[in-house]
Amino acid sequence: MDISRRAFIQSSIVGGAAVTAFGIDVTPVYAQAKTLKISQTTETRSTCPYCSVSCGVIIHTLGDRAKNAVPQVVHVEGDPDHPINRGTLCPKGASLQQDILNDRRLLKPQVRRPGSDHWEDIDWDTAVGEIAGWVKKTRDATFVEKDARGRTVNRCEGIAWTGGCTDTNELNYLVVKTMRSLGVVYLENQARV
Ligand code: SF4
Repeated sequence: MDISRRAFIQSSIVGGAAVTAFGIDVTPVYAQAKTLKISQTTETRSTCPYCSVSCGVIIHTLGDRAKNAVPQVVHVEGDPDHPINRGTLCPKGASLQQDILNDRRLLKPQVRRPGSDHWEDIDWDTAVGEIAGWVKKTRDATFVEKDARGRTVNRCEGIAWTGGCTDTNELNYLVVKTMRSLGVVYLENQARV
């Protein structure tokens, strides 16, 4: 029998059981592995933040029941009871744990100066000050009070805002309030629940 390493490891579902290429039933192994991984966890039902399909997820957390323990997300999976996805997740949703725990997450603001080829860390006060200065300067230079037909529009055409898929409802609420108050019309947030 000519069989690749991948096919050897790969299993298929036959009659509800996981079966290897050689016909060995590994269902108990799968069940045991899953039980070990989440046996001590707390389950929290939530919604995948990545797109407006809004799949249901279960977040498994360790350590939040014990004193002196820092809660730690150890596994995220599709919620089998959720009417939208019934336990399934697309690749983005399946990698949700990496959105929660990621040592590549940026923890401070960065700036790439004109002409520079790299990003540099700056402190929050400097970042906020510089952003405020640029917003004021750009808004002053591009604010339109009346359109070509003399109608009052009060819009800022020189600034645009685009959101990201992991922005929360709370952030998006503040973004809309802030941008609308500035007169920004080019405003886009990814659809959220
Ligand atoms: S799992 Fe995929 S399809 Fe479902 S909400 Fe998340 S990104 Fe959208």
